Amino acid sequence: MQIANNSVVSIQYTLKNSEGTIIDHSSEGQPLNYLHGHRNIIPGLESALLDKSVGDALDVSVEPENAYGTVNPALIQEVPKEHFQGVETLEVGMRFQASTEQGPVPVVVTKVADDVVTVDGNHPLAGQTLNFSVKVEEVREATAEELEHGHIHTEQSGGCCGGGDVENSEGGSCGCS
Ligand code: ZN
Repeated sequence: MQIANNSVVSIQYTLKNSEGTIIDHSSEGQPLNYLHGHRNIIPGLESALLDKSVGDALDVSVEPENAYGTVNPALIQEVPKEHFQGVETLEVGMRFQASTEQGPVPVVVTKVADDVVTVDGNHPLAGQTLNFSVKVEEVREATAEELEHGHIHTEQSGGCCGGGDVENSEGGSCGCS
């Protein structure tokens, strides 16, 4: 069957950045499973997989706008070093939760100066063109329960909230125990 909205799809994939470096990949025997048409995966990859069938292989280049977005300069901020009291050695690459009006936002330290620390709250893949090599391994119809929850259920995950690395925008409780 062909991939359509409400298909449960299993893919093997390799993800390279624009320099050709592999930055992510699925593992042998552990494909990425997602529910098509429910924004479980980035829009650019989802739309490229529409109408594909088991066994199809494709290379997809996804612009930032259809992946993790462009870099938002407003999310890059300089913070006085005194806000990091209790942190012994501040280093580039360290991750923190910044409390904002919108709730906690994960940030990464990108620069440490004498009294100011630069942190970046953009997604690590923001601004990047993502090059996927994808192979479709399995396609099936979603169950009524999966459609209700907006994500797939797998045996490995004990039924609910499965999907491994699938980004679930709803987060938190998925409505089943
Ligand atoms: Zn569920």
